[in-house]
Amino acid sequence: MEPDRKNAYEQGWEMGKTIRLKCNDCNRTYDLNAGQGMKDHSLERVLGYFEAQTADMIRVKLSVLDENGSWSYRRMIGYCSSCRTFREIPTFHIIENNKEYVTAVKCQCGGICELIDDTDPSAIEDIKCPECGGNMSAVKIGMWD
Ligand SMILES: [Zn+2]
Ligand SMILES: [Zn+2]
Repeated sequence: MEPDRKNAYEQGWEMGKTIRLKCNDCNRTYDLNAGQGMKDHSLERVLGYFEAQTADMIRVKLSVLDENGSWSYRRMIGYCSSCRTFREIPTFHIIENNKEYVTAVKCQCGGICELIDDTDPSAIEDIKCPECGGNMSAVKIGMWD
């Protein structure tokens, strides 16, 4: 069952945001969607973003999660050092005993992306331009759902 929009917002659901990373030196620009879409409220839909084996592993973890545990899903900004570019990476978060376990989808090249927490200003500040090594700035340019 799809949640209706109003209920989702009452539960603290936020819309996804589009973030523009721009190099202050060479002006290279990357537009990336982070956060969750409305449809990402459904566990089965979210698991569909992961490889079957990974989705099974997540299901097993969820099945043994006690009442203090929780899960969430969002797209994060990832940097792939093989492709030397930024990507939108689906990530699944399981919180258990106050620890967060993050499972991330790989880059389309098969490489593992370094995840950048777009909700952490200092993580954003540390981003360097893959082209010239310059500092990048991040601005929210829109919302998506
Ligand atoms: Zn640059
Ligand atoms: Zn890659």
